[in-house]
Amino acid sequence: MTPLPCPFCGGTEVSVVEGSTFRWSVAECDGCGARCGEIRVNTTSAMSWNERAAAAKADAIDEWNRRAPMTEQQSDALVDAWNQGYETGRNEAGFT
Ligand SMILES: [Zn+2]
Repeated sequence: MTPLPCPFCGGTEVSVVEGSTFRWSVAECDGCGARCGEIRVNTTSAMSWNERAAAAKADAIDEWNRRAPMTEQQSDALVDAWNQGYETGRNEAGFT
């Protein structure tokens, strides 16, 4: 299961990390921190811990790869909006 490039920064390094609690997993872009929706880890099945972790990772990547169909123009506008917000946030936080 290969994660698609990040829709915001184009980064290809995507990690699956713990979500809001250990029962949730989420795929996160290593480049800009964008995340997909959290997926629930199946903690009640008879699977081993390692099998659950592998299944949760696959589900999180599936979620990351789920994209709404959009035109190239819409995609460019989304990236522009993200970059503008990112720069604004950086400036407001005093990062250089
Ligand atoms: Zn990114």
